[in-house]
Amino acid sequence: MALDPTCIFCKIIQGDIPADIVYRDESVVAFNDLNPQAPTHVLVIPTIHTPNASELAKISPTILAAIFSAASSIAGDRGLDGYRTVFNTGESAGQSVFHAHLHLLGGRGLAWPPG
Ligand code: AMP
Repeated sequence: MALDPTCIFCKIIQGDIPADIVYRDESVVAFNDLNPQAPTHVLVIPTIHTPNASELAKISPTILAAIFSAASSIAGDRGLDGYRTVFNTGESAGQSVFHAHLHLLGGRGLAWPPG
């Protein structure tokens, strides 16, 4: 699926707006969240535009797996002994950017259940 010129994360992929990119390969880009909720708060996104994780699973389970693999690698590089990975799907779940993205959160204690 092509990139969407109106999508903020597609603009980050293309380098049209700045981001603090921490990892990049053919399938995924990872960058620090602008409004971090933990010492590590990285967003891992596919380099194709798709609105959420469910749609990504239908289009490419391989890229979905690559997102988790990148998150695991980033967490390992940072020596995180525990971390949380979250896909918000839909406005009622808190999704505000409709380009699939995995939140990688760590570096502090994380309560459960989440809010
Ligand atoms: P969500 O609410 O699950 O859709 O998450 C969207 C996330 O994107 C939020 O945590 C925002 O802080 C983050 N965000 C929005 N714009 C940017 C940006 N330009 N660079 C980095 N993070 C961003």
